[in-house]
Amino acid sequence: MSLHGKTAIITGSTSGIGLGIARRLAGAGANILLNGFGAAAAIDAIKAELSALGAKVSYSPADLTKAEQVRAMVAQAVSELGGADILVNNAGIQHVAPIEEFPDDKWDAIIALNLSATFHAVKAALPAMKAKGWGRIVNIASAHGLVGSPHKAAYVAAKHGLVGLTKVIALETANDGVTANAVCPGWVLTPLVEQQIADRARANGSSVEQERVALLSEKQPMHQFSTPDNLGDLVLFLASDAAASITGAALSVDGGWTAQ
Ligand code: NAD
Repeated sequence: MSLHGKTAIITGSTSGIGLGIARRLAGAGANILLNGFGAAAAIDAIKAELSALGAKVSYSPADLTKAEQVRAMVAQAVSELGGADILVNNAGIQHVAPIEEFPDDKWDAIIALNLSATFHAVKAALPAMKAKGWGRIVNIASAHGLVGSPHKAAYVAAKHGLVGLTKVIALETANDGVTANAVCPGWVLTPLVEQQIADRARANGSSVEQERVALLSEKQPMHQFSTPDNLGDLVLFLASDAAASITGAALSVDGGWTAQ
């Protein structure tokens, strides 16, 4: 699957799933607009790794909770890399607490990043996609875009919203050469999940390994984590011509979580 000549914006690609997606798309020949937080040396190392795959790479430090920075990131992809052909809305954060104790600022931050940033990015990127008559939008939602869990009010609300937003984008772009799909992972072992495991181990007085097993077996019939590479492979497929008529879908990669 060749993506030569295409430019991919991947939000939150300095870590975890986003980095896995960036590696796959760069490997297929796409130019990459990296985004996310991290130490300068770590980001330089990622840029060097992706460049070695043959990709032209730019980095945007945009804080995507701010709409004007989302727009600047999309404009940077167009001006420095020649387009915004593939937009992967991946950056996300989590906070776990019962609703009565859920901090208002955490609610606002999760809705801003996990939901509103995608609206602003899609709004900014669609004109460039429509002008070329080709575009791919992939929104990294979650099993929590399809079902709920206690103590994740903001995350579940944002991810359900993201699945709904994906359907509207697909309907509005159905005849523009653009597809929009949501990907709904179950557990993927990344820093976002390592944090939840560490918090549980602290709260329950158990070991990290015990909590890893417990986390998986509570939700997933398949007791193993997906990997960022697994997600990268699916996004690469969705970006390819083979997936030209897949749009408006919410694709589960969840070890059977939402089959129950
Ligand atoms: P991660 O913590 O490893 O990476 C998150 C990325 O987002 C990082 O690059 C970080 O710098 C970036 N980021 C955070 N705040 C940002 C901001 N304000 N502006 C721009 N970038 C910001 O997380 P991950 O596990 O790779 O998660 C990636 C996506 O996958 C998230 O949307 C998450 O909800 C979703 N997801 C993860 C899992 C899982 O099990 N890990 C499961 C389902 C869905």
